[in-house]
Amino acid sequence: MSVLVFAEHDGARVTEATRRAISAATTLGTPVDVVVAGGEEAASVAESLAVAGVNRVWLCLGAIYADQLAEPLAERVSRLIQDEGYQALVAATSTQARDLLPRIAAALDVQMLSDVIAIEDTETFVRPIHGGSVLARLRCREPVKVLTVRATRFERPEAGDLPAVERLEAGTESGPTRLLEEHGSASDRPDLASARVVVAGGRGVADVGIEELEALADQLGAAIGASRGAVEAGLLPNEAQVGLTAKVVAPELYIAAGISGAIYHVSGMKDSGVIVAINKDPEAPIFEVADYGLVADLREALPALRTALEQA
Ligand code: FAD
Repeated sequence: MSVLVFAEHDGARVTEATRRAISAATTLGTPVDVVVAGGEEAASVAESLAVAGVNRVWLCLGAIYADQLAEPLAERVSRLIQDEGYQALVAATSTQARDLLPRIAAALDVQMLSDVIAIEDTETFVRPIHGGSVLARLRCREPVKVLTVRATRFERPEAGDLPAVERLEAGTESGPTRLLEEHGSASDRPDLASARVVVAGGRGVADVGIEELEALADQLGAAIGASRGAVEAGLLPNEAQVGLTAKVVAPELYIAAGISGAIYHVSGMKDSGVIVAINKDPEAPIFEVADYGLVADLREALPALRTALEQA
């Protein structure tokens, strides 16, 4: 099967999630090709694709891709798939992929599969439904499989040789959408989606103050995550939310502080290596997925944990 991976990048490097999407793609067919589109500054992105299983990088540079808007990208990628006869397109589940891949599937007149967590063979895929409480096994007989994969469910790929890079002519239709402004919060902390350690706060953090959570995260070099409860209470920003309808994470260590463990939250973090839960309610469902559970008030537990870490 000839497989194309859509690369998400920050203008310099592909994301960790894209690297794992490459791993997923290689279970459909090897080697795979990767398409990188962006403004002129994105030329160096190809250098971050020295990954096992990658054969060729299509590099498509042009001002119309600088803002990564879905319309021109969908037009160019679907044309590439048709011209080269690819039988599958794979991307990591992300905000960008949610916008882009349905457009590509529509342009190719195929149904797409989203949030795939396992690939059994070239036609059989597994994806969670009903908030992750049911796993659906699906057979897809479309001539081109268009799928997003939950990156945390696939291994990091091995390093490989630098692949061949081929320039791809940019499209000319920029589409009707323009990026006017972008609002984001700058942070020195690791990226939530790929951090090795995540310290996540829930509504219960209101009792102790967000500074306490931040101090713990700083001590551990961790990213900060949040439940929807914490976001709705104005304790943590929206982009920190973890869960079914937000970011899906699988760090080596996930500390859930004052989070009840609703299924919507758990389905976004249950693949983490070690889960530590701190909650004053011994019946809180978060303890069902926790490897280590501490029934305690955050007002005592977080300062004690920080002191212990300082002394370690
Ligand atoms: P709560 O449920 O209010 O829990 C707070 C916890 O803190 C309690 O267990 C309490 O015992 C504990 N606590 C309080 N004070 C202290 C203290 N001093 N010390 C120790 N423990 C304390 N949620 C997500 O997180 N992510 C999602 O993506 C998401 N998507 C959703 C999608 C839909 C369609 C719907 C309907 C809901 C979604 N939710 C999501 C919301 C989810 O159902 C829960 O409401 C939310 O996760 C609860 O957040 P919480 O655990 O912080 O708050």
